[in-house]
Amino acid sequence: MSSILIKNCRWIVTQDEERSILKNCSVYIEDGLIAEVSSKIPVEAENVIDGSRMICLPGLINLHTHSPMSLLRGYADDLPLMEWLENKIWPVERKLSPYHCYLGALVSFMEMVKTGTTFFVDMYWNPIEIARAADEIGLKGVVSIGVLDDFKSYLRDFMIREVEKFIVDVKRFSPRVIGAIGPHAPYTCSEELLLKCVDIAEREDCLLHIHLAETRREQALFEEKFGVREVTFLSNLGFLSPKVLAAHCVWLSKNEVKLLGESGVRVAHCPVSNMKLAVGGVAPLPELIECGVTVGLGTDGPASNNSLDMFETMKFCSLIHKHHRWDPTMASAQLVLDLATINGAKAVMLENVCGRIAEGFAADLVLLNSFEVNLLPNIFPHSIVSHLVYSARGFNVSHVIVDGELIYSNGRFTRVDEGEIYSRFLSEVEKLLSP
Ligand SMILES: [Zn+2]
Repeated sequence: MSSILIKNCRWIVTQDEERSILKNCSVYIEDGLIAEVSSKIPVEAENVIDGSRMICLPGLINLHTHSPMSLLRGYADDLPLMEWLENKIWPVERKLSPYHCYLGALVSFMEMVKTGTTFFVDMYWNPIEIARAADEIGLKGVVSIGVLDDFKSYLRDFMIREVEKFIVDVKRFSPRVIGAIGPHAPYTCSEELLLKCVDIAEREDCLLHIHLAETRREQALFEEKFGVREVTFLSNLGFLSPKVLAAHCVWLSKNEVKLLGESGVRVAHCPVSNMKLAVGGVAPLPELIECGVTVGLGTDGPASNNSLDMFETMKFCSLIHKHHRWDPTMASAQLVLDLATINGAKAVMLENVCGRIAEGFAADLVLLNSFEVNLLPNIFPHSIVSHLVYSARGFNVSHVIVDGELIYSNGRFTRVDEGEIYSRFLSEVEKLLSP
């Protein structure tokens, strides 16, 4: 029986029903679960962490990324989306081996852990290598196999075989990795491929992770080609359901927002990537929430953000909606923290498992050193959530616990050698990108 006691935390941001913020309390973890949260825990544990300078919060949940793309961070920036993809990203991606994807994912997952993420949703190819990387670090998440057929039947048949194989293979991995299917977007997948993905997701009870209504140009071209808007097209096809986790959802009409709410679709809002790629609008977050859509936050890939720091994404999320609506009450710090924790868990159908610090929940926890200069003063409870969203940086994180295992302790990974991985990564990137 393994146990950890985080003793006498300066603050615990529980994210429970009342959003309680506790002072001078301890968290006792046993066999992967939070066993007790209290000011009096009369037990000792195998591992005791002094929490007296720490803010303890639920691990953050990143709902959309493409982890191997750390290989291409900074390779091409400041370009329109399609030019960026067609002339820069896709030509290099065609050269990526399974080993490249594994190393890229490994480095991305290390950045996520260092910046307080304990659960991710990924979409890429070579997904088994991505699952292997997550398992090696000890991180938890959904790995979806990215598929597209560009409306060509031979590619469609190949992709369907790949999905079927992946769904079987991914079950070999640790219980921390969940498999899913990632049809890339309505403009790159045929109706037949989308429907086949729905069939397999129903049969295997897994998520369908898709890009949706990301840019103004994409929506316009789609309408020109198919005569309907993307969400309406997917609705008519019977694709929309609570199994769908749709990334972006920027270019939506009021009717489409309602359709998403009625069909139970979950949304991964990616404000930093949207701004960097200048998608031409702001996702209608207040309207989505009003229509009952579960919205969480994602960073998008490390080549289109270019950071995987969810603290940064929380801040941008709050600022973009305040700025866009001329209303400083929009996207409050508490709402944004909810998106990155409770709603993230709900979006992947794990709301009774993670996203809160409460007895019986998975021990997915993050500790920040509150005695850093950007987190002062930290005397009153009302300022703590504000600090987390507006002034914390991912690198304030000192400890990360996933499923009751300390995978990052005092700034060091417990399972892997950080320096050795960076050396391997740099030498592969040099070979891959040298002219
Ligand atoms: Zn994406």
